[in-house]
This record gives sequence, structure tokens and C-alpha cells, in this order.
Amino acid sequence: MRRKTRKIKKGMINKMKNLVEFSRRYGSDPDLVCAGGGNTSMKENGILYVKGSGTALATISAEDFVALDMSALLSITEKKYPDSDKEREAAFLADVMAARLPTELSKRPSVETLLHALFPQRYVLHLHPSIVNGLTCSVEGKAAAARLFPNAVWVDECRPGYTLAMLLADALGGGADTALLQNHGVFFAADTPEELDRMLNGMIETLRAETEKNYDEKNYTPPTLEHPFTPDHIVYCGVGPELPDNKNARLLWEDSGKIARYAASFGGSKPMSDEMIKFIRNWEAESYRRKQS
Ligand SMILES: [Zn+2]
Repeated sequence: MRRKTRKIKKGMINKMKNLVEFSRRYGSDPDLVCAGGGNTSMKENGILYVKGSGTALATISAEDFVALDMSALLSITEKKYPDSDKEREAAFLADVMAARLPTELSKRPSVETLLHALFPQRYVLHLHPSIVNGLTCSVEGKAAAARLFPNAVWVDECRPGYTLAMLLADALGGGADTALLQNHGVFFAADTPEELDRMLNGMIETLRAETEKNYDEKNYTPPTLEHPFTPDHIVYCGVGPELPDNKNARLLWEDSGKIARYAASFGGSKPMSDEMIKFIRNWEAESYRRKQS
């Protein structure tokens, strides 16, 4: 959906051309993006331009990105937040919202905004492709990732929002440009769109070859609604007993089937833990995203 937008200066629209182009291109590829999943960003003069929550990459325009102050965002990693999930996530969200530039107050940035700010590179691409999640939602995923993608960091399954941001900040310490997030997806960061292409295509080619070579039928178990693989599956498919009757739910359900197939090449699939499922179902940021889609 498109909401009311401010006019942005022509010079800035030009600078965002590459960002809009690769966002739409990846967003239109059903092997890479299902429903509203994935997000992109660009940094320019201390400002982060990140996809707005509830917008779709395939149809995004320069106005759909939200501009935020990078130093305000990064200061979040230095702050102390309450221990209670509800209070912590509310305070964290308030701080992300407070980092918006004064022209952006009618917009809500992606729930994953701070993750984009943690990478120093100009462009960041975050996707949840089925083939990548065949790896991140599998029994041997972590070991296989270390073998196949030694330069990428791996983040174990964790609560999204503040907790994920802090774990990723820690993991990126050494300046990595690729992060695989268990039961979630992948981040790539680069200074040019060409480099992003090269990184994404390289990972997908490696995973294609690996899943063809190592597929083992005895490791295959069909997915169930009660055992979702990623937050997207909870947001769009629910957690049973029945699949909601809409296009996005069906798309994400197909995605679950592909993930289960790919995961059979990595020791079999590994759905999200019950604790994480409960957290996502109660998370305000995801219920906002659900309402927008
Ligand atoms: Zn994500």
C-alpha cells in the first residue's frame, strides 16, 4: 500500500535511483521475495534511507523509504533497556522512531532498521529467500554455513527487534559484509549495487549446487503450520490449525514447503522454537506489519 508521502528533492531522487532499481528488481523475483518480506537501504551523509514498514520492494519508490539519522540510530546500541520484553521493545521502537528526520514523521521504518545501520557499507540488502532459509532453518545449518560461507557471520535464533540488533552488532565486530540469521534470512552489505548482485548470486549458486548434490530424502519432513520456520510464516500463515484464505498465506506456505525440501540437504529442517513463536505472536512490530499487508 502507498501512504501519504512528502515530496523529496530531485537531487536525492537521483541519488536513490540505484537503490530503487535493485529493490524493485529483487522484490519482483519470487525466488527471493514472498509477500512484503525483505528490505533494503542506502546511506548518504549520515542519513539512512530504509524501506518503510508495510511497503513492498517490488513496487517501491524513493518516497517509500524513511530517512533516519545514523548517529541517533547507532546510539541505541549504547543504551540500557528494561528487561521485560514488552517494555524493552516499546522503548527500543520509540528510540528508532525518534531517529526519523523531522520530514518523516508520518512514516514508520522497517522493523529491521537498526540492523541496516550496523553495516558501514553504503547499500544493504536483506532477504528471506527459500533456498537461503533451507540452510538457516536446518539441523546442520550453522556448520554448513561455516564451511560454505566462511566470511559470513552466523546469528543463532533469537528474539527479533532489540535482541537481534545487539547480537548482530557483536557478530559484525570484525567488519563482515554478510550475515546469515538462523530461522530468518540473510543480510548483504556493499558499496555498489554490482557488488550486492555478485554476493547474492554467489551465495545462491553455491546453495543450488550444494542442495542438488547433498539432497537426502530421508531427511525430508513436510512442514506443518504448528511449526513455522521464520517470523514471516507466523505473520502470514498463523500457527494453525488452518491456513488463512489469502494469497500471501498461500505464498508463504509454498515457501515453507521449499525450505523443508532444501533443508533435507543439510540434515533436515529445524523450525523455530516454541519460545520464539510465542514472542513473535505477541510482538507489536509484527502485528503492525500484518495489518499493513
Ligand atoms: Zn527479515
